[in-house]
Amino acid sequence: MPNITIAIDGYSSTGKSTVAKQLADWLNYLYIDTGAMYRAITLYAMEQEFIDEENFDREALIVSLPKISLAFKKNEAHGTHEIYLNGRNVSSEIRTLQVSEFVSPIATVSEVRRKLVEQQQQMARGGRVVMDGRDIGTVVLPQAELKIFMTASAKERAKRRYKELRERGDDVTFEEVLENVNERDRIDTTRKDSPLKKASDAIAIDNSEMNLEDQFHTILQLAQDRIAGRV
Ligand code: C5P
Repeated sequence: MPNITIAIDGYSSTGKSTVAKQLADWLNYLYIDTGAMYRAITLYAMEQEFIDEENFDREALIVSLPKISLAFKKNEAHGTHEIYLNGRNVSSEIRTLQVSEFVSPIATVSEVRRKLVEQQQQMARGGRVVMDGRDIGTVVLPQAELKIFMTASAKERAKRRYKELRERGDDVTFEEVLENVNERDRIDTTRKDSPLKKASDAIAIDNSEMNLEDQFHTILQLAQDRIAGRV
């Protein structure tokens, strides 16, 4: 069986990471959540006070990049994938609405992207990887054997994200979440460096009306066909 790499890109809160995780578990592949890496750098920038509502000191962040180390570990007991920022588990902290608000501006910085893309390419070197993000099929793994591009209406995505945040106990309103989803779409698709766009050879899946199980089986079938060399 050949080892393939699978790239899953798409708009925020389309459920990319849910399906990417399911797929990686099923195929016994490595799962890499690149959004978590941009979020961890954002958390670092917030803690160092490089970014807040009024200011963003890009230069200070760029100078500090060599001091930032990121690592993933799978928590076998809980079956979860955890991200470590300079040795600290920040998996939960990076999911707040505040991090979501600052992450897209941080992700426009070319120096940040260069550092993360290099690390992502290294992690994917051996194949047997499912990676999700915004620029995986276009920039990070342009040779990926299977590329998926996920979309869903902004309202549907905000509904899912709102539910997730409320379940964690975060005090947010639906309108705030919808605004964040729209604003991230705008920044992600219009930035100069590696904007979010569908790779020409990616398969587009709109999951507004799909349940998780149908979506998983659709993508699993595509992956199994690629692995078996059928398509
Ligand atoms: O996937 P997630 O929503 O956690 O990603 C958070 C943000 O990180 C995105 O809105 C985008 O600005 C940025 N990102 C990116 N490139 C990636 C993954 C995420 O620019 N490959």
